[in-house]
Amino acid sequence: PEVRELLLSRITDVPNYPKPGVMFKDITPLLADPKAFGALTDTLVELAGRYGATKIVGLEARGFILAAPVAVKAGIGFIPVRKAGKLPGATLAQAYELEYGTAEIEVHAEDLSAGDRVMVIDDVLATGGTAEASLELIRRAGADVAGVAVLMELSFLPGREKLSGALAGAPLDAL
Ligand code: 5GP
Repeated sequence: PEVRELLLSRITDVPNYPKPGVMFKDITPLLADPKAFGALTDTLVELAGRYGATKIVGLEARGFILAAPVAVKAGIGFIPVRKAGKLPGATLAQAYELEYGTAEIEVHAEDLSAGDRVMVIDDVLATGGTAEASLELIRRAGADVAGVAVLMELSFLPGREKLSGALAGAPLDAL
């Protein structure tokens, strides 16, 4: 509960960003506060242990920032899931729907394999499209989904519902 209050106090609402009518949750004040960033990292490391995770996936771009210190502290590998066209090696790709149009994410195929238990980390779960596509990638690589952890869940959107099929019983934690 104290950690929750600390984290909430370091997230600001930015109206009409990136477009009119959207209230953007800005996490940069949290990143600039080592006490809050540290508390977030420690909480995620504990979750990684509870999940029995053997790999940490971070979703581009803010997911990278949150996931990398967790992977180092937990002593397990960090795997970037990137927007299409950014990874140099052989990739698996997954398209997903946006509000307008589609997007595509990729992972290096050799980074995940059967026997891996993967924890996915991102800053915000909104519609759930990005996280859902990442779970597809993980499964297509032959790995298991250990759990998904996000800093924030926008509970006025049906992200959790959208994700429930792809989670297939794995936990979704919103801090
Ligand atoms: P979704 O695919 O769930 O609709 O969108 C989630 C992705 O969009 C996440 O990768 C997240 O970084 C980004 N996102 C959507 N809304 C916000 C927001 O209000 N604040 C931040 N920081 N990221 C957001």
